[in-house]
Amino acid sequence: MTETIDFKDLFIELGLDPADHSGNLACPFCGKKSFTPYRDNGVARCHACAWSGNAINLYAQVKGVDTKEAFADLVALYNAKAIKLKPKTRKEAVEQLASDLDFLAWVRLHFAFFKSERMGAAHYQKKSGYSRSHFTKVLNGQFDKVSRKAWNEIVLFLRQAINVGQLKKDMGMKAAYWKGRIKADALLRESVSRFL
Ligand SMILES: [Zn+2]
Repeated sequence: MTETIDFKDLFIELGLDPADHSGNLACPFCGKKSFTPYRDNGVARCHACAWSGNAINLYAQVKGVDTKEAFADLVALYNAKAIKLKPKTRKEAVEQLASDLDFLAWVRLHFAFFKSERMGAAHYQKKSGYSRSHFTKVLNGQFDKVSRKAWNEIVLFLRQAINVGQLKKDMGMKAAYWKGRIKADALLRESVSRFL
């Protein structure tokens, strides 16, 4: 249990915005003000991108380290007695995996929707630092084909890079909306010259 670590406290420690929005924090993964810490079980959950985890998971993912290292850092930061490493329950692991798979389906849709060199899968694969083979397996949801570390790192990278909420909005929109988007988005604006 990590109940003695306050998520707001940890946000400050991690250089994240700790501002309270009626009991929620701004989610470090999707940016929405939907990150809710639950005091009774030491777990937090984002209602927008469905991220869930405890203080150790949060620290590990934001810092890009594994949970062992995160645990060691947190022990150093806080009173060692305050932290016990509680592994995820099977139910939590299933929920996280289901959320990842749902997210990845949207990412594939994103790549299909924005088929361009600078917004395509190859661009993000290079930025992720992972090989094409690893990246593609994760993108296709083949969690049995890659290590948990590669899975977590690539999914986290994509969660930070790809705005699924925006995509969901884009897909239901009409021309007037797109006119506004083209005006506001430099990359889209640049591409207009090809249509002259
Ligand atoms: Zn979120």
